[in-house]
Amino acid sequence: MSNKNRKRSIDGVSGAGEGSSKKAKPHAFFSSFAARKEEASLPPTQRATVRVEAPPTVEHYLHLDPFASPGSDNGGSTSSSKIKIAMYDLDGTLIQPKSGARFPKDATDWKWWDATVKAKLAEVHKEQFHLVIISNQNLKEKPLKAWRSKVSLICADVQLPIRVLAATAKDQYRKPGIGLYELLHDLYEAKGLEIDIENSFYVGDAAGRAGDHNDTDRKFAVNAGLTFYTPEQYFKGSTKNPAYLPFKGLDATAELAAMDDSPLVTPTSTPLIPASTKEIVIFVGYPASGKTSFYNKYFKPHGYIHVNQDTLKTREKCLAVVREEMTFGANGCVVDNTNRDKSTRAYYVAMAKQLHVPVRCFYFTASYQLAKHNNFYRAYVASDVPAAEKRSILPETAFIGFKNALQEPDETEGFDEIRRVNFKFQGTEEDRRLWSRWMS
Ligand SMILES: [Mg+2]
Repeated sequence: MSNKNRKRSIDGVSGAGEGSSKKAKPHAFFSSFAARKEEASLPPTQRATVRVEAPPTVEHYLHLDPFASPGSDNGGSTSSSKIKIAMYDLDGTLIQPKSGARFPKDATDWKWWDATVKAKLAEVHKEQFHLVIISNQNLKEKPLKAWRSKVSLICADVQLPIRVLAATAKDQYRKPGIGLYELLHDLYEAKGLEIDIENSFYVGDAAGRAGDHNDTDRKFAVNAGLTFYTPEQYFKGSTKNPAYLPFKGLDATAELAAMDDSPLVTPTSTPLIPASTKEIVIFVGYPASGKTSFYNKYFKPHGYIHVNQDTLKTREKCLAVVREEMTFGANGCVVDNTNRDKSTRAYYVAMAKQLHVPVRCFYFTASYQLAKHNNFYRAYVASDVPAAEKRSILPETAFIGFKNALQEPDETEGFDEIRRVNFKFQGTEEDRRLWSRWMS
């Protein structure tokens, strides 16, 4: 459970006495008029939701301090340092819009998902569980404001110590990413406590069943190693277990196994690096498909120049560097761009013909899903990416753009050789475990 993101996140949270932190401003976020009116009618003991300092893309609230609550002997001074956590998704699990609309209209447009919800929360609280809501809320400013107000009303209605954690951007905190769970883990660790993961659980409605909008809740539980229940199982005693249902998207565990059995480069009949290295090599492939790592490992040691448009800014500059090296230099050039279509590649092929040097194409075959998986892994999950290879998350459009414009390289383009490069994940056993997580 150690990675850079988790370390970064705890810096934003004051571990001790967060409920009484000077930075916590009760009601400061309580903004909508209807919600404010409703909140004002509550007795003071129920208006206890405080905002906890958190990383910029995380909303963190605490309603009553779970460590100071009467009836809870598992915080502070006594007995066990292992805390059982009952975790819940919010929308479609604990609550639903009162209006019957798909999305809530305002802060007061909510009701409990089922009549049993409140009693069930009280029951697990009595059983010494700490209650935590884990929610994805990638909202614009106005609906986010209303959401904050709603949180206060929900917490006040429960009247139990409850913590709310929400991810407001598409980053490592968003489910199925487990950034929020790791944040929670660090919070307890800072208090000398440990989450009793064996006896903790997570309830969510996005389980990948027919009619579910997604399967991210079940993936979140798998990623975190938590027992998972649907709201139907948990609140209504349904015996329908979704565990056998397939997940959507890239099954990284299966991908890893397949990678181990496939060759890195095909065909394998000719040497990867020829005797004479004065040649132009054109890479083709998605962002995050392993192109630069492949260059560093196989071409760089042979003196090949790295030509990249992100660094050089324009195609003209890339072409100028290649021309200069092919005319006056002694080395080969690797054009490490996505080079997605024939017309882009034709510039380099034409130059090779003009200068009478060989031109080869290396096609990185990683799929759309695999490249996106790597993108997320490199930006948010990888623990040991060297600073030089460290990259921030690339937008979805970078992948869609490539997918839509891709023309697979073929012989008619004038290459002396086309090689296919299969993505092979490189890393330790721990890295493989992290890479195997569900990223989206
Ligand atoms: Mg939900």
